[in-house]
Amino acid sequence: MSSSDQPPRTSGSIEHYDAVIIGAGVSGMYALHHLREMGLSVRVYDAAKDVGGTWWYNRYPGARVDGPGSPFYCYTFSDELMNEWDWAETQSEQSAVLAYLEHVADRFDLRRDIQFETWVQSARYDEAAQRWMVETSTGVRASAQFLICAVGALSTANMPDIPGIHDFAGECYHTGRWPHEPVSFAGKRVAVIGTGSSGIQAIPEIAREAAHVTVLQRTPQFAFPAGNRPVTPEEMAEARANWDLVRATMLANPGGFPWKTHTRSALDATPEEREALYEKLWQRGSFRFFGDSYNDIAISEEANRTMADFVRGKIRKIVKDPKIAEKLMPDHFVMTKRPILDNGYFETFNRDNVTLVDLREDPIERFTPESVVTRTGEHPIDMLVLATGFDAISGSMLRLNPTGRGGVSLKERWRDRFHNYLGLTIGGFPNLFMVHGPGSPGVFYNMPLGAERQMNWIGSCMRRLREKGLCAIEPTADSEETWASEVSGIANATLFPRTDSWWTGANIPGKPRYFSAYLGGSLYYHRISEVAAKDYEGFVFEPARRAEDAEAS
Ligand SMILES: Cc1cc2nc3c(=O)[nH]c(=O)nc-3n(C[C@H](O)[C@H](O)[C@H](O)COP(=O)(O)OP(=O)(O)OC[C@H]3O[C@@H](n4cnc5c(N)ncnc54)[C@H](O)[C@@H]3O)c2cc1C
Repeated sequence: MSSSDQPPRTSGSIEHYDAVIIGAGVSGMYALHHLREMGLSVRVYDAAKDVGGTWWYNRYPGARVDGPGSPFYCYTFSDELMNEWDWAETQSEQSAVLAYLEHVADRFDLRRDIQFETWVQSARYDEAAQRWMVETSTGVRASAQFLICAVGALSTANMPDIPGIHDFAGECYHTGRWPHEPVSFAGKRVAVIGTGSSGIQAIPEIAREAAHVTVLQRTPQFAFPAGNRPVTPEEMAEARANWDLVRATMLANPGGFPWKTHTRSALDATPEEREALYEKLWQRGSFRFFGDSYNDIAISEEANRTMADFVRGKIRKIVKDPKIAEKLMPDHFVMTKRPILDNGYFETFNRDNVTLVDLREDPIERFTPESVVTRTGEHPIDMLVLATGFDAISGSMLRLNPTGRGGVSLKERWRDRFHNYLGLTIGGFPNLFMVHGPGSPGVFYNMPLGAERQMNWIGSCMRRLREKGLCAIEPTADSEETWASEVSGIANATLFPRTDSWWTGANIPGKPRYFSAYLGGSLYYHRISEVAAKDYEGFVFEPARRAEDAEAS
């Protein structure tokens, strides 16, 4: 293996690496560190100007970590890192997470192997060379034995296609592409489309400053108090002192959170007991509302109703105008859309400068240069905020659209569903590895920890391949089928697939609509370890075709 301290091998204008990583967010940064530690030559490309991915792009007001909360939304691979970084708040704001990631980049000298402001335009598997050929927007071309796609499960912004939207002449911002310069709402009439996590975080902040906010709501949501508060020095000290135990708890928890799992059914508690517990958890806030309540909320309709009714009751109490409260009333199973933590979202509708438009009964017809027109009237606006989320989980892979064996593109391969094995690999795309891809726990897990665990598996797989003197690995069609059945079998035992959400692809027209994430929690990591222990059961290997490639290994 060549070392990344050496300049890349080049032939003509092509740079040669052991591995190319696409993306310098939480996942790509760890991937770089890990593969460099293994002694591989690695190059990372990212379209952004610096590290951070999600946290570099999502600078909208109110953008914060929610689950599991600080100091546990962090890397776990370095005790020194844990010891030297202090978190100020339990729900760290975007700038704090970005500062942490910048610190990680400095500390592990990551930037020297990252090329920023570089869009990977194409990635093609050259079957003869058994290497990935990558072309970028800057003209740099690279080849690599391994292609790591750390392209982000929430990184491809979903831009709504509404008649006249491009004619709107005022300021227009997508929350996931927020400007780096300060945005002033003062004195402005602002419309916000979207009431998912980003919209619900941003709306209270915008309403505090703007002259008027029109919230254009398609789906009423369940939102829970964030319970944000300072992380005390004692808490930081305790997390550090018990770090081994905390980490072990995170590894065992289904979501990668530092809490013990519990086995209480909501249906075993009396209504009074449930109400008391929900109230206690509501007052405390945070994702622990789910972690510390009951284990059948996402499985049993009856159990689900107990929590949903509790939150609906809270909305009725908080929102003073009963007609507005009814418009805010969610009617899906609680937790079956991405749970949202808020900082005064429902209270915002008690303000005089906020109007709620229920798009189910009053849909948007069009935009004009200075307004949004709904069925019942025109709303003059100066600014439009698109909190319309992402083409999630599979969107960034499809946007990259790598080409595998036989010139088959990923868009062709994934036309009907997101074929994969272990959420890490795709048949016909040898040596391509995804982090947080479809078929993995991805967004259902504490994502920095998930990235580390997936990347450790990928690194071991690469090492094994090279130890065996082999060149390429890819899954069989049968193993992809078996994995798809396992993933959908687990999902179908829950209420999740029964709700339209970005988890099911329902927010993107034309996208295959099904639940593609692995919901078995930490079981996933047992499964992928088991496959590795059985010498990568379900995969086929390919020896090196050419002597020079074997040598390069
Ligand atoms: C507002 C917000 C709050 C969140 N809060 C939490 C939380 O509390 N807990 C949690 O676990 N997760 C949270 N997430 C999810 C978050 O996305 C992950 O935690 C994590 O940051 C993902 O890191 P990543 O490296 O996998 O992807 P990303 O951070 O999305 O990075 C992907 C990178 O790939 C680059 N890229 C993609 N395609 C290309 C290409 N073709 N060429 C070049 N570059 C490319 C992008 O520019 C981007 O920088 C949140 C997400 C958002 C948006």
